[in-house]
Amino acid sequence: MRALRPALGAILALLTVLLAQQPATAGGLVLSGSRGDGAGHQADVAALSPRSAPVSLGVVSAVTHSVQRGETLGAIAAANGTDVATLVRINGLSDPDRIGEGQVLRLLGSSGLAVVAMDGVAVRRVTVWPWPPVQGQTVVVWAQMRNAGTPKIQLEDRDLQVVGSGASSWALAPIGPLAAPGPRRLVLSSGQRHLVLTLPIGPGVFPTQNIPASASQPILSQPTRVNAETARMNDLFAGAEPGPFDPGQRFRLPLDGEYPHSSPFGQRRTYGAGTAVSAHAGEDFSAPSGVPVFAPAVGTVLLAEPLFVRGNAVVIAHGSGVYTGYWHLSELSVNAGEAVEQGQEIGRVGSTGLSTGAHLHWEMRVSGAAVDPMQWVD
Ligand SMILES: [Zn+2]
Repeated sequence: MRALRPALGAILALLTVLLAQQPATAGGLVLSGSRGDGAGHQADVAALSPRSAPVSLGVVSAVTHSVQRGETLGAIAAANGTDVATLVRINGLSDPDRIGEGQVLRLLGSSGLAVVAMDGVAVRRVTVWPWPPVQGQTVVVWAQMRNAGTPKIQLEDRDLQVVGSGASSWALAPIGPLAAPGPRRLVLSSGQRHLVLTLPIGPGVFPTQNIPASASQPILSQPTRVNAETARMNDLFAGAEPGPFDPGQRFRLPLDGEYPHSSPFGQRRTYGAGTAVSAHAGEDFSAPSGVPVFAPAVGTVLLAEPLFVRGNAVVIAHGSGVYTGYWHLSELSVNAGEAVEQGQEIGRVGSTGLSTGAHLHWEMRVSGAAVDPMQWVD
């Protein structure tokens, strides 16, 4: 926190003031930037509006608050749109009752980009994190508008679902694991005014794996069934789903206890002697058959049935284009259409479908794109 470059000091101070004036409501939504290098420092900002509006840009490695005499962690959390548990966690506090005057607390859980827009644009401030984003991550965009409306937010040509309005407008931007590194346009629009930011997408670090023909051939030799299932799943993940996503919620792991991560999200895969490279769309946990699988957050079951490739599968809609999927289960514990609570059992680990042994494949989709689920549970 103390290692910030001096040139950013003034912007940081301004951000802290703005944060205090415009508390967010994201009690729980803190996504890790741990797979990025955390050292980003650059973005191009242009205001494409009827008149060119002055915009200043700051990149922060942390947004901090200096504790004043008599302040409590609860009061600081309330004034900054977060909660005590978040502050305890991201500051590594052992006792929330023991904070001291002058102590510097982090208010954001990970690196972020903050853009402070000055007079003439409807966007007061945009915060983007993690920063810099890398392949496979979910990027959080928090727009604080000057008016009460809901901005339109686009990543390239993809409309992102915006939750909330006014000073508390949120969108989740998915960066697919195979998305080419490089600049992406993020456009915030309010009426006829547009604020254009450039997200510099960095490369992720992914291992590679070959799935032997003996394991994959029996299923991949039936491309019609495989392709039909893929198309159906893509439709499901792109469709309308019940309710808005609640940025105040936290996700938990779908398994209790520690299990090896046998195949990480984004792993580059080839099948048999083929040279086509795909990316593993989820995180695999090597757990024994029969281990219970739990809903990571509240949601509605969209699908719970046996599939050809994915085996016994469950898909949960969490709102606003956020979905999780669970493949290769030995048992299904829920039915399509059912509402589930966080921690509710949804099935049991198994090895059904295209699988070489008992494991849980946990998948996360945001606006249709597969993203790293582990980023949501740090
Ligand atoms: Zn998998």
